[in-house]
Amino acid sequence: MNQDKRLFIAAPRGWCAGVERAIEILDVALERLTPPIYVRREIVHNKTVVETYKARGVRFIDEIDTAPDNATVIFSAHGISPEVRRTADKRGLTVIDATCPLVTKVHIEVIRYIERGFTVIYVGHKNHEEAVGVLGEAPASLHIIETEADALAYRPPSDKLAALTQTTLSVDDTKKIIAILKQRFPAMEMPAKEDICYATTNRQEAVKRLIKDHAIELLYVIGSKNSSNSNRLCEVAETMGVPARLIDSAADARGTDWNAKTRVGLTAGASAPESLVRETARMLEADGFLSQEVVFEKENVSFSLPQELKA
Ligand code: SF4
Repeated sequence: MNQDKRLFIAAPRGWCAGVERAIEILDVALERLTPPIYVRREIVHNKTVVETYKARGVRFIDEIDTAPDNATVIFSAHGISPEVRRTADKRGLTVIDATCPLVTKVHIEVIRYIERGFTVIYVGHKNHEEAVGVLGEAPASLHIIETEADALAYRPPSDKLAALTQTTLSVDDTKKIIAILKQRFPAMEMPAKEDICYATTNRQEAVKRLIKDHAIELLYVIGSKNSSNSNRLCEVAETMGVPARLIDSAADARGTDWNAKTRVGLTAGASAPESLVRETARMLEADGFLSQEVVFEKENVSFSLPQELKA
């Protein structure tokens, strides 16, 4: 083994408590309910996870209308707009909600602010499923802001303003956007506990620490292209001047230029399974890299199953 070639694996990485809960919901549903089980959209944004469950007979659908009568439909971890739930109720479908409780928290905050007569600014990516779900709570009173330029240009319809954010944003970019909004609208309210979740924050901080403390030259991020928090991990590295590759699995890394590097970093977005991290690490180890885990923080968060699935 070439002792000069080092692989630093960030911790925490990979599955967060919300993803673990969504996967457990699907496992329990497969075990206890009569198939087929339908899932609206991807249960979590990860290609390997979705393919694994397709192979186990789960049917993924884009819209609730395509589920047959009397079907059982699971809502994904990213949440849904109230309209989706109303449609499911109208059709009498059996619904199991795998929305992450930290996404639900944002929905509840929206409802509370709107009930108190606020206009709500939502900082997020407008086409992301989580944002679509939240915006559906009050389309007329919720305004999306994606960038600093949006924050500078925003013209609110009233002075009674509150701001909320998507759970999987860049911590640093969001701070800048919120700072602009606070400067422009000093009376703007925000929840006591921020909406970017612990898992997003910890994974971004772990990457920063990895790069800073271990002079990483190239970062591999295991995650699918539609995974918001995985893309943000790449951006964190790139902002620090380190090239990052978003890969679905070890196979995607083959043929890239890690051979020219001696200090490679590895992490995984919140929806990517640990098996893919291990597979990628093994591939690099087989090429002479000595691997080491770098722990930024130990996580101890878990969420319980929905009432209807509790034993
Ligand atoms: Fe929940 Fe955060 Fe995981 Fe999203 S990334 S599922 S908000 S814990």
